[in-house]
Amino acid sequence: MTVPQVVVSPPVLSVVTPMYNEREAVDHFVARLRPVLDRLEVAYEVVAVDDGSSDATVARLLQLRTEWPQLRVVSLRRNVGHQTALAAGLRSARGDYVVSIDADLQDPPETIGEMLAAAREQGVDVVYGVRNDRSSDTVFKRRTAGAYYWMMRRLVGPWVSNQAGDFRLMSRAVVDVLNDLPEQRPVYRLVVPSLGFSSAEVTYVRAERVAGETKYPLSKMIKLTLDSVTSFSATPLRIATWLGLLSFLLCLGLMISGLVAWGFGATVPGWTSLYVAVLLLGGIQLICLGLLGEYIGRIYAAVQNRPQFLVAQDTADEVAFGAADV
Ligand code: UDP
Ligand code: MG
Repeated sequence: MTVPQVVVSPPVLSVVTPMYNEREAVDHFVARLRPVLDRLEVAYEVVAVDDGSSDATVARLLQLRTEWPQLRVVSLRRNVGHQTALAAGLRSARGDYVVSIDADLQDPPETIGEMLAAAREQGVDVVYGVRNDRSSDTVFKRRTAGAYYWMMRRLVGPWVSNQAGDFRLMSRAVVDVLNDLPEQRPVYRLVVPSLGFSSAEVTYVRAERVAGETKYPLSKMIKLTLDSVTSFSATPLRIATWLGLLSFLLCLGLMISGLVAWGFGATVPGWTSLYVAVLLLGGIQLICLGLLGEYIGRIYAAVQNRPQFLVAQDTADEVAFGAADV
């Protein structure tokens, strides 16, 4: 008996959205995204990547899916973080163009149409969503983001746009390259521009989070910053070397002046200078060790080559089964 072959042509557009405990936002997101995508009149799919949520995000997504078959749910086994969840989404996406967008409606879905039009008309591979207004973000968020982009432009390169986050459209060619990267913790907002594909920009106003709270606490921001720095630049290692050299010269100077003072019989009980020097050197050594550790940690992760994430469920598989059973 021959099994009927179902040939499903890939969609033109995939919209990838990582979601972590977004139960409160997901209804708003779907209600606003769907009419936008339906109006585009292209075959599309939405890949909702559940990043190991502990609330009812998956259950709600599966419910919504019964009325919107283009909504796919890719559920990860545990929380792996925004960028790795994005990696899972990019691997599952099948479209000729892939848009990554946050689930909290801070990135307006209406801009997706503009991005697709720009990519097709100008024939470019990447269209960046560029925030021209972040006034809806908190002062803390704006300051930390400002510091992050300032540092990245200096450490990584001037081609890092200081207003482009993870809202962007990429062609299949770009997504294929990203999927083949051996990196364990890629930072896409830096990797994508570094590839040098032709690109365009569309501007948008950053809105307020529609519901729920930020899923990026300070600890995750620091992690993203460390990943960003160590994945792109060896400058911090060099800074460590300079710091070490500087402190060595400083100590040399102190030693010579101490010797001279001793020669003149003007020695003072040198406890203060002694422990200052010890602390200074100890501090610098610890900084350097920590920096080395960051890089070695990345090498270690790369050598282990463990899976970045594990998919527990992908509703696309169910569709394939259903079709083959016919
Ligand atoms: N997110 C995720 N895993 C995480 C943290 C965040 O998938 O561990 C998702 C989150 O659900 C949202 C996007 O990443 O769709 C951006 O997060 P958020 O809006 O909380 O960040 P912020 O806008 O506050 O920087
Ligand atoms: Mg947000």
